Amino acid sequence: MPLTGAWATAWMTLSAQVVSARRAELNTLDRDIGDGDHGENMDRGFEAVAGKLDTLPAEASPADVLKLVATTLISTVGGASGPLYGTAFLKAAIAVGGLDRLDPQALVALLTAARDGIVLRGKAELGDKTMVDAWTPAVIAAAAVQKDGGDVVALLRAAAEAADRGAVATEPLVARKGRASYLGERARGHRDPGAESTRLLLRAAADAADV
Ligand code: ADP
Ligand code: MG
Ligand code: MG
Repeated sequence: MPLTGAWATAWMTLSAQVVSARRAELNTLDRDIGDGDHGENMDRGFEAVAGKLDTLPAEASPADVLKLVATTLISTVGGASGPLYGTAFLKAAIAVGGLDRLDPQALVALLTAARDGIVLRGKAELGDKTMVDAWTPAVIAAAAVQKDGGDVVALLRAAAEAADRGAVATEPLVARKGRASYLGERARGHRDPGAESTRLLLRAAADAADV
């Protein structure tokens, strides 16, 4: 489908379903190197998002949807991931404000702004074993597809696949941000939960477009 407000709504509905289905898995990853609540946090936030989506008018733009997601996540998700994802969706909304339909260039702007928002808020760099390690490869892959003239579905697929690889690539790392950074060497061998949830959200974005 074209990347309209309906797509953004479908993305968030699908995200809520996927996060709910993977809640236990996200908790387990966070139990290994954090405090075990990442699945709970994400599920609480996206359940609240899903409950609010039908309050939006039919003509809502992608930015309207993303703004609702941002404010909902900030107010319902306790923990580091709430303000981080909240800032991501808020900056993404600002980047595509006023557009009723996103082309590849706007989509790259959305993803870049989301990643930059997370970096602004959390100050993590690539390789610090955080959600940034899934977002940054996704942004790079998306920009490459746009440069080659690919369409929005190809772009979102490439972003999701890069995020998959980025999440897996956090496994051997020592964490330099977030709770996992207190573990030192003991964080090695475990996937970062936030990188895993980012991978799930970006896959949902692609799946929502590819119908
Ligand atoms: P909390 O750690 O407060 O319990 P969550 O468990 O919901 O919050 O989220 C943890 C995830 O947040 C981590 O796996 C990591 O991806 C992400 N995270 C934590 N701190 C930062 C940061 N400074 N920058 C980017 N991501 C971070
Ligand atoms: Mg946690
Ligand atoms: Mg916590």
